[in-house]
This record gives sequence, structure tokens and C-alpha cells, in this order.
Amino acid sequence: MSRPASRPVSRPASRPASRIVHVNGEYVPEDEAKVSVFDRGFLMADAVYEVTSVLGGRLIDFPGHAARLARSLAELDMESPVTEAELLAIHRELVRLNGIDEGLVYLQISRGNPGDRDFAFPDPAAVRGTVVLFTQSKPGLADNPAAKAGIRVISIPDIRWGRRDIKTVQLLYPSMGKMMAKRAGADDAWFTEKGGVVTEGTSNNAWIVTGGRIVTRQLSDDILHGITRAAVLRLAREAQMAVEERPFTVAEAKAADEAFITSASAFVLPVVEIDGAPVGAGRPGPVATRLREIYLEESRRAAI
Ligand code: PMP
Repeated sequence: MSRPASRPVSRPASRPASRIVHVNGEYVPEDEAKVSVFDRGFLMADAVYEVTSVLGGRLIDFPGHAARLARSLAELDMESPVTEAELLAIHRELVRLNGIDEGLVYLQISRGNPGDRDFAFPDPAAVRGTVVLFTQSKPGLADNPAAKAGIRVISIPDIRWGRRDIKTVQLLYPSMGKMMAKRAGADDAWFTEKGGVVTEGTSNNAWIVTGGRIVTRQLSDDILHGITRAAVLRLAREAQMAVEERPFTVAEAKAADEAFITSASAFVLPVVEIDGAPVGAGRPGPVATRLREIYLEESRRAAI
């Protein structure tokens, strides 16, 4: 009998043989982990998530991720089945169980399994949210060669919904954007609104360095409130760098001295090309390089 097409035939070499994942209070081998087909995360993308980096076996900016998770849940009238202290303990236990030195912890909370498909939210007193966490081992995460080479981005229209500040698992368009970038021979895509105004990257916040100032879009419903963005803004200001929170266009970015992205898993990565045109000298610039160093140093120091 032939195997169902959706089942992976062999395990990728990068995956440990016995990864332990967390599902609703239990630690189980990944092959035994189960979530209902009626889970609203699966049927409706009715779920929020966080990704926290691990360096040296410790969590980077866990309080920032926990605070944003609480905000995402509140914006969607979703109750958390777990406290922040419980989440921290689960993160640490998964890092320990899976021997993660450098990598990520992915966390997802959905509105749970009401036992059937229905557009209306279930009564939170009757249906508990589904909590899933797993680790991804990424040796060399901090020593990414892309930090020295820089990445290339293309710009594409931002056709996402209007609440991008809520970190939901509706990631189809960002995935499509990533594929458009790959097909164009680039690494990632920046979303743009009318007039070529940049909102953010598919999974990162966008920045430029121009006129001696570091520029990134101000917070609103239009972008995700990046935890790395907040940390880099704070560190740049502490280092007496001039910072401006305002929108910028692709044209301005192409003419800028530098461009870069920030995210919890990429940290700070220089952007050296936008839509095929070099940014500045077409090489990683001193500001992005310095901010990456400062960010990594400070993050390692404050990791828990
Ligand atoms: N914007 C989007 C759309 C993202 O998906 C991400 C990564 N989750 C970010 C920005 C960066 O946020 P953070 O620094 O918290 O990872």
C-alpha cells in the first residue's frame, strides 16, 4: 500500500530523532503529539504565537515576548490557559529536554477545540485554549554568515489584514512573499503600501540609515510591534545614535546609506540590495554591523 502523500517519508537530518514538544501541560515525543482536527487554530487561524531565541541555552527577552503574547490574546478576547510563570518554566524545560544551545522556542495558543466547526467563538468557560510549544535547534544562529554578506530583498504590495500588530498564525501571505523573493533570486520581501511606503518585512521590521539617522516605521496597527525593534531602538538611543520613528519609501531606502532588518531569530541583519539596486556601497554598513554587535552582547547579558 502506498504511503499518504502528506506524510514525510524520511526525517530531515537537521531534526533530532526524539524532539520533545509541549502540548496542553504534557511533554511528549513529537511523533505522539496531537491536536484535534476541530482546533480553531487549524480551521480558522484563530491562534497567536511567539518565537523566542535561545543563545547559550538561555532565553532572549522572554519578558518582552510574554508581554506581547498577553496583548495579542487580549486583542482577540482570548483567555490564556497558562500564566507567564508557567510559560517561562515550559520554555526552560523544553530547552533543557532538547539540549538547545542556540535555537528557538515556538509557542502557539489557539482558541481551542469546540468539538465542531463554527464561526462563532466558543464560550471560554467551556473550551480551553490549546497550548503548543516546540524547540528548533539552530547551531550557529548568532554567527549567521548573512550578517557579513547582507541580504537582498524585493518589495511587494502589502495585502495583509489591518491588524498586523496582533501576532496571529495567519502567515499565508508572508509565506507567499518569501516564495516571491526566492523566485526573484532574493532572500526576503518588504511589504509596501501605496506610494511605495514600506510597512515591514515578511517576518521582520524594516530599517534604514539616512542623513545620519536611524529610521524605522512608528508603531501602529499596520506593523508587528517587534520585540527586537524595541530593544534595538533602546540600545541605539543609549549609544547616542539619532533615531526617527516614521514611514519611509522603497525609493528612500534605495538611496539610503544602509538598510537592515530586525527580528527575534535574525537579530539585526544588513540589507544590501532592494529590488535589484544596491543600498549604499552594496555591502553591510557600519551602523547595522555595530547594532548587531550591541544587540547580541546585551541580549546574551540579559538572557534568562
Ligand atoms: N514583523 C513581522 C511581520 C514578524 O513576523 C516579525 C517576527 N515575528 C517581526 C516583525 C519581528 O518581531 P520580533 O522582533 O518580535 O521577532
